[in-house]
Amino acid sequence: MNDHDHHDHGHDDGSALPEIALRVKALESILVEKGYVDPAAIDAIVETYETKVGPRNGARVVARAWSDPTYLSRLREDATAAIAELGFAGRQGEHMRLVENTPPLPNHPGCHNLVVCTLCSCYPWSVLGLPPVWYKAAPYRAKAVIDPRGVLADFGVALPKETEIRVWDSTAELRYLVLPLRPAGTEGWSEDKLADLVTRDSMIGTGLALAPGAKS
Ligand code: FE
Repeated sequence: MNDHDHHDHGHDDGSALPEIALRVKALESILVEKGYVDPAAIDAIVETYETKVGPRNGARVVARAWSDPTYLSRLREDATAAIAELGFAGRQGEHMRLVENTPPLPNHPGCHNLVVCTLCSCYPWSVLGLPPVWYKAAPYRAKAVIDPRGVLADFGVALPKETEIRVWDSTAELRYLVLPLRPAGTEGWSEDKLADLVTRDSMIGTGLALAPGAKS
Protein backbone atom coordinates (compact mmCIF):
# COMPACT_ATOMS: atom_id res chain seq x y z
CA MET A 1 0.00 0.00 0.00
CA ASN A 2 1.14 3.51 -0.72
CA ASP A 3 1.54 5.22 2.63
CA HIS A 4 1.59 8.72 1.25
CA ASP A 5 -1.60 9.77 -0.40
CA HIS A 6 -0.46 12.70 -2.48
CA HIS A 7 -3.04 13.75 -4.97
CA ASP A 8 -3.61 16.69 -7.26
CA HIS A 9 -4.34 20.04 -5.73
CA GLY A 10 -7.42 20.96 -7.72
CA HIS A 11 -9.91 20.43 -4.92
CA ASP A 12 -9.88 23.45 -2.68
CA ASP A 13 -13.12 22.71 -0.87
CA GLY A 14 -12.10 19.32 0.49
CA SER A 15 -14.38 17.50 -1.96
CA ALA A 16 -11.46 15.23 -2.91
CA LEU A 17 -11.96 13.12 0.20
CA PRO A 18 -14.82 10.91 -0.97
CA GLU A 19 -12.97 10.50 -4.25
CA ILE A 20 -9.91 9.28 -2.38
CA ALA A 21 -12.05 6.85 -0.42
CA LEU A 22 -13.38 5.48 -3.70
CA ARG A 23 -9.88 5.19 -5.12
CA VAL A 24 -8.69 3.36 -2.01
CA LYS A 25 -11.65 1.00 -2.24
CA ALA A 26 -10.95 0.36 -5.93
CA LEU A 27 -7.27 -0.26 -5.22
CA GLU A 28 -8.15 -2.61 -2.39
CA SER A 29 -10.50 -4.61 -4.69
CA ILE A 30 -7.75 -5.00 -7.28
CA LEU A 31 -5.19 -6.10 -4.71
CA VAL A 32 -7.59 -8.60 -3.20
CA GLU A 33 -8.63 -9.89 -6.63
CA LYS A 34 -5.01 -10.40 -7.67
CA GLY A 35 -4.35 -12.18 -4.39
CA TYR A 36 -1.79 -9.64 -3.14
CA VAL A 37 -3.60 -8.90 0.07
CA ASP A 38 -5.99 -10.62 2.38
CA PRO A 39 -9.07 -8.49 3.13
CA ALA A 40 -9.02 -9.73 6.72
CA ALA A 41 -5.51 -8.35 7.08
CA ILE A 42 -6.64 -4.95 5.84
CA ASP A 43 -9.53 -5.00 8.30
CA ALA A 44 -7.11 -5.88 11.09
CA ILE A 45 -4.88 -2.93 10.24
CA VAL A 46 -7.79 -0.51 10.16
CA GLU A 47 -9.16 -1.93 13.39
CA THR A 48 -5.77 -1.52 15.06
CA TYR A 49 -5.46 2.15 14.14
CA GLU A 50 -9.05 2.89 15.05
CA THR A 51 -9.14 1.22 18.43
CA LYS A 52 -5.75 0.19 19.80
CA VAL A 53 -3.46 2.88 18.45
CA GLY A 54 -4.66 6.34 19.10
CA PRO A 55 -3.96 9.62 20.82
CA ARG A 56 -3.59 7.81 24.15
CA ASN A 57 -0.19 6.64 22.90
CA GLY A 58 0.93 10.21 22.36
CA ALA A 59 -0.51 11.21 25.73
CA ARG A 60 1.73 8.60 27.39
CA VAL A 61 4.74 10.06 25.63
CA VAL A 62 3.86 13.62 26.70
CA ALA A 63 3.16 12.61 30.31
CA ARG A 64 6.50 10.80 30.48
CA ALA A 65 8.29 13.83 29.00
CA TRP A 66 6.67 16.11 31.58
CA SER A 67 7.65 13.74 34.40
CA ASP A 68 11.11 12.54 33.47
CA PRO A 69 13.79 15.03 32.31
CA THR A 70 16.07 12.26 31.06
CA TYR A 71 13.22 10.91 28.91
CA LEU A 72 12.60 14.43 27.60
CA SER A 73 16.28 14.67 26.60
CA ARG A 74 16.02 11.43 24.67
CA LEU A 75 12.81 12.59 23.04
CA ARG A 76 14.51 15.82 21.93
CA GLU A 77 17.50 13.94 20.59
CA ASP A 78 15.71 11.11 18.77
CA ALA A 79 11.94 11.20 19.07
CA THR A 80 11.45 8.04 17.01
CA ALA A 81 13.62 6.00 19.37
CA ALA A 82 12.23 7.57 22.55
CA ILE A 83 8.66 6.91 21.38
CA ALA A 84 9.58 3.33 20.48
CA GLU A 85 10.87 2.87 24.05
CA LEU A 86 7.23 3.07 25.16
CA GLY A 87 6.29 0.46 22.58
CA PHE A 88 4.86 2.83 20.00
CA ALA A 89 6.36 2.28 16.59
CA GLY A 90 5.32 1.39 13.13
CA ARG A 91 3.69 2.76 10.07
CA GLN A 92 3.82 6.52 9.55
CA GLY A 93 5.73 7.01 12.78
CA GLU A 94 9.18 6.11 11.52
CA HIS A 95 10.65 9.62 11.51
CA MET A 96 9.30 11.61 14.38
CA ARG A 97 10.41 14.95 15.67
CA LEU A 98 9.40 16.68 18.90
CA VAL A 99 8.44 20.36 18.78
CA GLU A 100 8.10 21.96 22.20
CA ASN A 101 5.75 24.69 23.29
CA THR A 102 7.51 27.05 25.69
CA PRO A 103 6.04 29.39 28.28
CA PRO A 104 6.58 33.15 28.16
CA LEU A 105 9.74 34.13 30.04
CA PRO A 106 11.22 37.57 30.78
CA ASN A 107 13.62 37.27 27.84
CA HIS A 108 11.43 35.21 25.48
CA PRO A 109 7.77 35.59 24.46
CA GLY A 110 7.06 31.86 24.49
CA CYS A 111 6.27 29.71 21.52
CA HIS A 112 3.41 27.57 20.29
CA ASN A 113 3.73 24.89 17.61
CA LEU A 114 1.11 23.92 15.05
CA VAL A 115 1.36 20.90 12.75
CA VAL A 116 -0.15 20.59 9.30
CA CYS A 117 0.45 18.68 6.10
CA THR A 118 -0.06 21.22 3.34
CA LEU A 119 0.31 18.64 0.58
CA CYS A 120 -1.98 15.89 1.83
CA SER A 121 -2.44 14.34 5.25
CA CYS A 122 0.88 13.10 6.67
CA TYR A 123 0.27 12.42 10.35
CA PRO A 124 2.06 10.50 13.12
CA TRP A 125 -0.19 7.42 13.25
CA SER A 126 1.92 5.58 15.82
CA VAL A 127 1.27 8.21 18.49
CA LEU A 128 -2.00 9.82 17.40
CA GLY A 129 -3.86 7.11 15.50
CA LEU A 130 -5.86 8.12 12.45
CA PRO A 131 -6.03 11.83 11.57
CA PRO A 132 -9.25 13.72 12.23
CA VAL A 133 -11.25 14.69 9.13
CA TRP A 134 -10.45 18.40 9.48
CA TYR A 135 -6.71 17.66 9.40
CA LYS A 136 -7.10 16.26 5.89
CA ALA A 137 -9.41 19.03 4.70
CA ALA A 138 -8.16 21.74 2.36
CA PRO A 139 -9.37 24.67 4.51
CA TYR A 140 -7.23 23.59 7.47
CA ARG A 141 -4.23 22.82 5.29
CA ALA A 142 -4.35 26.24 3.65
CA LYS A 143 -5.30 28.38 6.62
CA ALA A 144 -2.77 26.83 9.02
CA VAL A 145 -0.01 28.35 6.91
CA ILE A 146 -1.64 31.67 5.96
CA ASP A 147 -3.34 32.45 9.27
CA PRO A 148 -2.30 30.11 12.09
CA ARG A 149 -3.66 32.46 14.74
CA GLY A 150 -7.01 32.40 12.95
CA VAL A 151 -6.96 28.60 12.97
CA LEU A 152 -6.27 28.63 16.71
CA ALA A 153 -9.19 31.02 17.19
CA ASP A 154 -11.41 28.62 15.19
CA PHE A 155 -10.43 25.93 17.70
CA GLY A 156 -11.11 28.26 20.62
CA VAL A 157 -7.47 28.80 21.51
CA ALA A 158 -6.36 32.34 22.32
CA LEU A 159 -2.68 32.90 22.98
CA PRO A 160 -0.93 36.06 24.15
CA LYS A 161 -0.19 38.43 21.24
CA GLU A 162 3.54 38.05 21.81
CA THR A 163 3.54 34.26 21.57
CA GLU A 164 5.54 33.10 18.59
CA ILE A 165 3.60 30.58 16.50
CA ARG A 166 5.62 28.06 14.53
CA VAL A 167 3.93 26.03 11.81
CA TRP A 168 5.43 22.68 10.85
CA ASP A 169 4.64 21.08 7.51
CA SER A 170 4.64 17.30 7.82
CA THR A 171 5.94 15.08 5.08
CA ALA A 172 6.20 11.36 4.48
CA GLU A 173 9.77 11.61 5.79
CA LEU A 174 9.17 13.70 8.90
CA ARG A 175 6.22 13.90 11.25
CA TYR A 176 5.88 16.11 14.31
CA LEU A 177 4.59 15.63 17.82
CA VAL A 178 3.83 18.80 19.75
CA LEU A 179 4.82 18.80 23.41
CA PRO A 180 2.15 20.99 24.98
CA LEU A 181 2.83 23.10 28.06
CA ARG A 182 2.29 21.22 31.28
CA PRO A 183 -0.77 22.72 32.97
CA ALA A 184 -0.23 24.65 36.20
CA GLY A 185 -1.31 22.94 39.38
CA THR A 186 -0.18 19.46 38.35
CA GLU A 187 2.99 19.28 40.44
CA GLY A 188 3.55 15.78 41.77
CA TRP A 189 0.89 14.19 39.58
CA SER A 190 1.37 10.63 38.36
CA GLU A 191 1.96 9.98 34.67
CA ASP A 192 -1.47 8.33 34.42
CA LYS A 193 -3.17 11.40 35.80
CA LEU A 194 -1.13 13.72 33.61
CA ALA A 195 -1.88 11.68 30.49
CA ASP A 196 -5.60 12.33 31.01
CA LEU A 197 -4.95 16.04 30.45
CA VAL A 198 -3.25 15.49 27.11
CA THR A 199 -5.72 15.80 24.24
CA ARG A 200 -5.14 14.79 20.64
CA ASP A 201 -5.47 18.41 19.54
CA SER A 202 -2.87 19.54 22.06
CA MET A 203 -0.37 17.25 20.32
CA ILE A 204 -1.25 18.68 16.88
CA GLY A 205 -1.17 22.22 18.23
CA THR A 206 -4.82 23.11 17.62
CA GLY A 207 -5.45 22.79 21.34
CA LEU A 208 -3.81 23.07 24.73
CA ALA A 209 -3.48 20.48 27.45
CA LEU A 210 -6.50 20.52 29.75
CA ALA A 211 -6.36 22.36 33.04
CA PRO A 212 -6.83 20.16 36.13
CA GLY A 213 -10.54 19.75 36.73
CA ALA A 214 -11.52 20.55 33.13
CA LYS A 215 -12.57 17.13 31.94
CA SER A 216 -12.35 16.31 28.25
FE1 FE B 1 1.18 14.51 3.38
